[in-house]
Amino acid sequence: MATEFQLIARHFARPGRPLRNAALGVGDDCALFAPAPGMQLAVSTDMLVEGRHFLSTVAPERLGHKALAVNLSDLAACGAEPLACTLALALPRGDEAFVAALAQGLFALADAHGIELIGGDTTAGPLNLCITVFGQVPAGQALLRSGARPGDDLWVSGTLGDARLALEVFRGRVALAGADFESVRRAMELPQPRVALGRALRGLASSAIDLSDGLVGDLGHVLARSGVAAQVDLHRLPRSVVLAAQPAALQQECLLAGGDDYELLFTAPPALHDAVLAAGRGCGVAVTHCGRIAAGSGLTVLDADGRALPAAWQGFDHFA
Ligand code: ADP
Ligand code: MG
Repeated sequence: MATEFQLIARHFARPGRPLRNAALGVGDDCALFAPAPGMQLAVSTDMLVEGRHFLSTVAPERLGHKALAVNLSDLAACGAEPLACTLALALPRGDEAFVAALAQGLFALADAHGIELIGGDTTAGPLNLCITVFGQVPAGQALLRSGARPGDDLWVSGTLGDARLALEVFRGRVALAGADFESVRRAMELPQPRVALGRALRGLASSAIDLSDGLVGDLGHVLARSGVAAQVDLHRLPRSVVLAAQPAALQQECLLAGGDDYELLFTAPPALHDAVLAAGRGCGVAVTHCGRIAAGSGLTVLDADGRALPAAWQGFDHFA
């Protein structure tokens, strides 16, 4: 068992590595850094609680990855460039092997995005990871939830629903094995934040949000903030071959109310259709036109024949 200070020094301080984005990192009372001239700081915090946001079966490397990934996804949704993060960590005990693996997963993703861990807090308690990310975006150019306009196209990146499908396997409701299970499990445990896509959408997308709580709930936030309505074409929502092989009702549930997708949902004027496709191609992420924004309020999901589904679809609410 290691003490708090040993854990920090051995696993989080990374001495000898030059800081690229910060003037002062781990080890003092505060970290110091500034965005580049003309840039605004973009800041977001997300907490992961055992049993609520992850299962105790998850490997610690994957937990470290996911804790940072869900935060980077928020920067992506704003079109921000990630700079740095802090980590507040509560651990039941000073388990070195666990912390080493957690740090490895976190730093692999941090290094892939060129960001540094500049501080945090470590304490005993029920397993809980709270990361704050700092990014920068040219002043006034952040993508917001409030910019969707009637007539805009609705787009989504990647595929939806695999993370929810994996959760249903863990819950024993769905049987999947072998490579199919591994692929949906990766979607749940190793989400890839769409940082490059978010930046490429600056100046194209009229609004954006990342999908953490399910399409219906998250799109609902965009509609409320923008004061508009939307139609989603269920048959156009992109899904993996594994999900596409499931019964229609389960597909629908995973696609519309899945959660944990960490894809970007965004709107753009139809005149920018080809530019949006090119932005997706430029960063190697599929983008799919899946609906449209209209005047009014509320969300309508249409089936392949253009008929509205019953309005019983709700986003995931942590206090429901
Ligand atoms: P203080 O008591 O002044 O808040 P701490 O003793 O908690 O400082 O932390 C010492 C240093 O280690 C600080 O720079 C803090 O930011 C950093 N730190 C603590 N825990 C972590 C962590 N989990 N990840 C990264 N840095 C951490
Ligand atoms: Mg402290």
